[in-house]
Amino acid sequence: MSADLESADPDPEALANLLNDTSTPALMALAERYGLKGVWLQSHEALVEAMRRDLPPAVQARLMDELVAARYGALTIDGLLAEVLAAAMRRDPRTTAPVLEAVSESEAELVEEGPPRWRFTIRGHPVTVDAAARHLACDCRHFEFAGRRGMLCKHLAMAFRLMPEAAAREALIALLVTEQYGGPKTPRWRMHPS
Ligand SMILES: [Zn+2]
Repeated sequence: MSADLESADPDPEALANLLNDTSTPALMALAERYGLKGVWLQSHEALVEAMRRDLPPAVQARLMDELVAARYGALTIDGLLAEVLAAAMRRDPRTTAPVLEAVSESEAELVEEGPPRWRFTIRGHPVTVDAAARHLACDCRHFEFAGRRGMLCKHLAMAFRLMPEAAAREALIALLVTEQYGGPKTPRWRMHPS
């Protein structure tokens, strides 16, 4: 099935970092459930190594989905947005978070309906969210500075609130996994002026 093929190749660096960020008891339970033998009383490091070495790619993809769901699955769209903003501020304290309430839904117009790409005009600014291409764009002055630091502007934040929830959730989680667990070889999101 195409869905299996799509998820059959998880980012190895993000998977390793997610596994490293999982407690040893949780790793033991996961390793056993995913069919690894002799997992009890192994060290955290040995468990991570075994899961990366011995599980087939399709199984690693399911494992990755499960680890991601455990971290982000309970968060609302606003909760995910808050995580993205907090992560950007941790990375670069000079980055300022947008005031999300400063723009309202009535100022937004849908220009292109995805998937895979959503385009809006929000208070006169062209805004693009393209999860498949890992691309976010807005031409406002805040994003020109902030986008390079992984920070969203209020227009992009509004775009995520206006998109269908499932699509917004998928895009925000993909962005968070890349930012929080990606390694040097993980393909980054392009965040730049339109
Ligand atoms: Zn903007």
